[in-house]
This record gives sequence, structure tokens and C-alpha cells, in this order.
Amino acid sequence: MEIIRAENLRFTYEGAETPAVDGVSLSIKKGEWIAVVGHNGSGKSTFIKLLNGLFLPSEGKVLVNGLDTADEKTIWDIRRRVGMVFQNPDNQLVATIVEEDVAFGLENLGVEPLEIQRRVREALRRVGMEAFAGAAPHNLSGGQKQRVAIAGILAMEPEVLLMDEPTAMLDPSGRREVMRTVRELHEQQGITVVHVTHFMQEALLADRVLVMEQGRIAEEAAPRQLFTDVERLKKLGLDAPPMALLAHELRAQGMELPQGIMTVEEMVNALCPLL
Ligand code: ADP
Ligand code: MG
Repeated sequence: MEIIRAENLRFTYEGAETPAVDGVSLSIKKGEWIAVVGHNGSGKSTFIKLLNGLFLPSEGKVLVNGLDTADEKTIWDIRRRVGMVFQNPDNQLVATIVEEDVAFGLENLGVEPLEIQRRVREALRRVGMEAFAGAAPHNLSGGQKQRVAIAGILAMEPEVLLMDEPTAMLDPSGRREVMRTVRELHEQQGITVVHVTHFMQEALLADRVLVMEQGRIAEEAAPRQLFTDVERLKKLGLDAPPMALLAHELRAQGMELPQGIMTVEEMVNALCPLL
């Protein structure tokens, strides 16, 4: 079932000569995980802000469950269903205590206090942060802050999670923490994910990868299909996941490795018989 439909989207910033998003059409199915990659300035951030009505298209339209983001009557409903996590964990937390932060959106919606309590507890549990309910956000690590930001969205009971490079400012363990959390939400609760990232290892988790270039979708493929063609990736200005690159280089040196190596585990399995 389709949950988001983008039809021939264009978006031009005021005063800009060329559109930042330039004719994108896309259908996202409920429960799908989409990764969006592409170099800086290719239009990724602008594109995902169009998906929950944070920006309205200059041309074309976005439908969320059939509701048009340009319709003022339903925009709050759309924003609740399609939550967004941004890159900088420090800009997203507004309260001085974690649980108040997670409750913030619900209070604005006028949800009953008891229901708020229940949902805040549940959301913190789902991101593994229940022990930090009374903590001050500024004492948390970057990864923990992002999980609290995700909890704030989960409390709104969304259907789609949009993430704009949510791990870009985190250390490796924070990155793993956040990706594990998102993976669980996707696998256990079937939440639909649209994930902008420049870590190809993270894009590997998606069902579909969109490669953006100058405001358009230049390429769309299953991650393993996309990352197998290292030369094509180089032309697109992208890397492959580290293990796919290593396999590519080792093959170039004459080592007979099977195709499709993407992870450390797959590399180990391929190398062991050669030792
Ligand atoms: P990405 O997220 O892929 O790096 P963006 O969507 O941020 O790309 O940017 C797409 C294009 O729009 C770039 O050319 C960028 O310079 C331009 N742009 C982004 N934000 C603004 C803004 N607030 N005002 C004007 N131009 C912008
Ligand atoms: Mg961006």
C-alpha cells in the first residue's frame, strides 16, 4: 500500500536561479525503507522536507495517505504522521528534562496528561532510553540525544520516519546505537523509513536506494545491486561500503573473491577459505 506519493516535484529557493529539487516523482510503500544518497548540494535535504510539508513544492505535489501537503486543513495531521529527525542532535531537544522533551509535541497537540505519560514512557522504552527519563539532555551523548529526538517523534505515533543524516555528527558507537534503534523500529513495528545518509554502510539497510544529482533522482536500485558496480558509483561521485571497496581492490590485485561482499562478516567468510 502506498503511503507517500510525490508527483513531479520542483522546489526553488527564493532568489535561486536553478531548482534545488527538479522534477522528482516517487511512490513510497508502507513499511518500506528508502535510503537517499548523493553528494552535497544534490537536493536531498530539500527533497525530504517536501515529504512532510515542511516545505511546499513550487510545482507538483506530495500526497501522504492521499492527503495533499499543500492543504492547510490537514498539514498538522501530516506532520504528526510523518516525523523528521535532523542532523544536529543539539538543535532538536527543547526541554531541560528528557521526558518533557519527548512530551513536547503531544502537549502541543492537546493530548490528555495521562495519555501523554503513557506514550512518553512507551516511546522512551522503544529507543532504549527509559532509564534516562529524568536526565538533562545536555548530559547525554550524541547518540542518546538522537534516540530521545526519535522518541519525541514516536510519541506522536507516526507512520513514517524521515531522517536527514541523523548520524553525521555522531561517533561510531553513537552511529551504531541510532541505526540499531531505527532498525528495530522498522523490523518490529513496520515503521516506514526515508533515510538521507552519506554512509553507504547505512544505505545497505534500505530496500531501495535513491541517488540524487542536481535535484533529480539519477539512479534507483536495491543497495546490493547499486554497490556491486564500483566503477559506476565512482562516476556518480559515491563510495561503496568499505568492504565492497576492499573486495573490489583485492579483485583488481588478482584475488579471486566472490561478488556481492558488502559487510565485514561476508568478507571474513570469503577470505577464510583462501587462507
Ligand atoms: P543536500 O542535502 O543534498 O546537500 P540541499 O537540499 O541542502 O542538498 O541543497 C540543494 C541545493 O539548494 C543546493 O544548491 C543548495 O546550495 C541550495 N540551498 C539549500 N538550502 C538553501 C537555502 N536555504 N537557500 C538557498 N539555497 C539553498
Ligand atoms: Mg543535506
